[in-house]
Amino acid sequence: MNRAGHGMPMLAGMSRADLEQWAREQGEPAFRGRQLADWMFHRLELDPREMTSLPQSLRELAANLLAAPAGRVEAADVAEDGTEKLLVRLADGQSVEMVLIPAGERMTFCLSTQVGCPVRCRFCASGAEGLVRNLQAGEIVEELVFGARRIGRLPDNLVFMGIGEGLLNLDELLRAIALIVSPEGFGMSPRRLTVSTSGIVPGIRRLAEFGRELTLAVSLHAVNDELRARLIPDGFRYPVREILAAMDEYRERAGRMVTLEYTLLDGVNDSPADARELARIGREHHAKINLIPYNATDAAFRRPPRRVMEEFFRTVEQCGGRVTMRQERGSSRTAACGQLRRRHAEKRETSSECE
Ligand code: SAH
Ligand code: SF4
Repeated sequence: MNRAGHGMPMLAGMSRADLEQWAREQGEPAFRGRQLADWMFHRLELDPREMTSLPQSLRELAANLLAAPAGRVEAADVAEDGTEKLLVRLADGQSVEMVLIPAGERMTFCLSTQVGCPVRCRFCASGAEGLVRNLQAGEIVEELVFGARRIGRLPDNLVFMGIGEGLLNLDELLRAIALIVSPEGFGMSPRRLTVSTSGIVPGIRRLAEFGRELTLAVSLHAVNDELRARLIPDGFRYPVREILAAMDEYRERAGRMVTLEYTLLDGVNDSPADARELARIGREHHAKINLIPYNATDAAFRRPPRRVMEEFFRTVEQCGGRVTMRQERGSSRTAACGQLRRRHAEKRETSSECE
């Protein structure tokens, strides 16, 4: 069970069954636990004091015995385009960010899975300091609830593309996902959830075994190991061949097309030859390709000029790649979120220059 603060169980990490059990342990009937669950899962309420259909004594008990909520929203920052970023302060004083991304009628939330990131990709601000700690399932769920309370409902889509490498915190991530997709929990469709990974092969395999129709996004960024080694340090970098094999396995077992994320870096991975090879990989592995214009951090990389990115896009498209490009944003506030609005293209013919 997830615990926060002084070892108190975290409400947001508990399932309906956990809460029934908890109620019984307090000498209460199990249905009181179900009421608590309904408040959280249906009314997005984490504070027992506000759960007005419960007897006052039980509200007090729950408020005293459960970390509910464990964290809090410390700051909110709305960008011109409507994207809102929440700074979530965790019980131990650490913090993470979650982002609310509106697109037309739809709302996507981008959640963090770790404080910092052990993978330390050289172009990514999240990994600059390495891993501080894993988030617990309840902390991941609280990010969702904090966002949902702001819009008064659950989001349409949920992407695990904030801070951290979710597949290196897979036990807690899967526990959170189970609460989010369970009909006894928040009841979101697994198809609306996207897990993004830098290519952690054992994690992709475990996700395939998990057996839910989650969408998988793999941050490839480079078409061969030599180039990839310039972007991702040795510790958690897997060979491209193995990543693609694990991806195939995922596609077959989960029955879901995988997305390849490709952050465009000036003069590093943006050549026409890279575009042709990326398209070939996409075709061979039946993967969609999402190009992400690099958002400058402190690292020694630059975003390619617009015409280079557009040329790259066209080349992938002409070579039969099913490609989208993340819309450029005026600011870098959503840099940690890899899957924003997209430009769609469905052209499939292959030109003679493609390999
Ligand atoms: N760790 C996971 C998920 C979080 S990162 C992963 O790497 O996939 C989400 C996406 O944002 C990744 O595709 C990542 O490469 C991309 N990203 C990280 N830093 C970026 C930056 N500065 N500019 C553009 N995209 C970036
Ligand atoms: Fe970690 Fe993903 Fe950033 Fe790489 S891109 S450091 S895996 S959060």
